[in-house]
Amino acid sequence: MNTSDTFPEIRESVRKLCAEYPGAYWRKLDRAREYPTAFVQALTRAGFLSVLIPEEFGGSGLGLSAACAVLEEIHRSGANGGACHAQMYTMGTILRHGSAEQKKKYLPKIASGELRLQAFGVTEHTSGTDTTRIRTFAKKIGDRYIVNGQKIWISRAEHSDLMVLLVRTTPREEAARPTDGMSVLLVDMKASVGKGLTIKPIRTMINHATTELFFDDLEVPVENLIGEEGKGFRYIIDGMNAERILIAAECIGDGRFFIDRASAYAKEREVFGRPIGENQAIQFSIARAYVNVTAAAEMVAKAAALFEAGKPCGTEANMAKLLASEASWFAADMCLQTHGGFGFAEEFDIERKFRETRLYQVAPISTNLILSHVATHVLGMPKSF
Ligand SMILES: Cc1cc2nc3c(=O)[nH]c(=O)nc-3n(C[C@H](O)[C@H](O)[C@H](O)COP(=O)(O)OP(=O)(O)OC[C@H]3O[C@@H](n4cnc5c(N)ncnc54)[C@H](O)[C@@H]3O)c2cc1C
Repeated sequence: MNTSDTFPEIRESVRKLCAEYPGAYWRKLDRAREYPTAFVQALTRAGFLSVLIPEEFGGSGLGLSAACAVLEEIHRSGANGGACHAQMYTMGTILRHGSAEQKKKYLPKIASGELRLQAFGVTEHTSGTDTTRIRTFAKKIGDRYIVNGQKIWISRAEHSDLMVLLVRTTPREEAARPTDGMSVLLVDMKASVGKGLTIKPIRTMINHATTELFFDDLEVPVENLIGEEGKGFRYIIDGMNAERILIAAECIGDGRFFIDRASAYAKEREVFGRPIGENQAIQFSIARAYVNVTAAAEMVAKAAALFEAGKPCGTEANMAKLLASEASWFAADMCLQTHGGFGFAEEFDIERKFRETRLYQVAPISTNLILSHVATHVLGMPKSF
């Protein structure tokens, strides 16, 4: 079975929903850098953002490959799941590591959309990819943690009720290992803004609602600690595999969008008295994009299947993200080139998707860091850092 044929009913319903939000909708938001509230609400109502939440907590209890199908179709339609994809998987930290009380309190409301948990605060200005060097610190005083520090690139913070926040609770130099001494706190955003939390939006080349966060004696109740104090790094790593696989699925959707658009245009655009698609130079780059995306989709499906089976999948999740993000970028460049000057016109949506798909070679993990993982963890080469 071709990977784009899985979950046909889900894919069909996602396509129908996305048809209500055509290019004009996304272009308007993109210009104003506005959040796609109506689209996110429609996805929530249709239950697409709660597919990974178990049925006992109000979700549909499906596996990661179903969630991949949802995001792939969103992206193939020309839409952008970046506004809300984290609502699907950030809850995994509570699901896997939260207490029974926390699950009961939060998961049903996340499933219904009453609560948005789609902010995930890890990256900091000075630590970059070297997460063990984060400096945001939570000091326990009585029944509160007092949080000080700052984060950068925290997406959707203004559109979330809750945030999963990684902090240090033991300084790096006092921890047994650099990965010890970090903890995960669940932050109530509405209760925190203006009371120790400041959110500053960052305007970027894409409409991604990303922000900087500043913590100045923010109080977080101790009952909002997820799992055990000091073990937060492991909890965050657990969630990253799901995130990488789902984002890889978005890249596959982007890749298919570019291939659909380029092949349609190549058949219809006539120059020198014939369709440009009659020229092999045009055909071959579209065909090459198709080959790349199809191969990457197989890797995404493999990583998702391992994740669903509860097997180790860190390497496969990383490789899927690398291959899919490069395949979508090649397809983006090909599609723009195939459209000639029209590729630059906003109304074709190609320049917007071109900008959007570029992100995924940098976030949530950059290509070099994936190659470093493969070189050292898989091929046993010496570590460079
Ligand atoms: C739009 C956007 C949204 C984001 N959303 C979130 C979010 O919601 N939450 C969150 O926590 N973070 C988020 N991020 C942050 C994202 O995960 C990081 O930008 C990404 O992991 C890269 O980290 P960095 O920007 O600090 O790059 P750096 O770590 O500063 O690296 C810069 C460059 O150097 C390369 N590099 C670094 N070290 C090495 C090495 N040892 N060998 C070879 N190359 C190296 C990297 O590959 C990269 O290309 C977002 C980023 C963006 C741009």
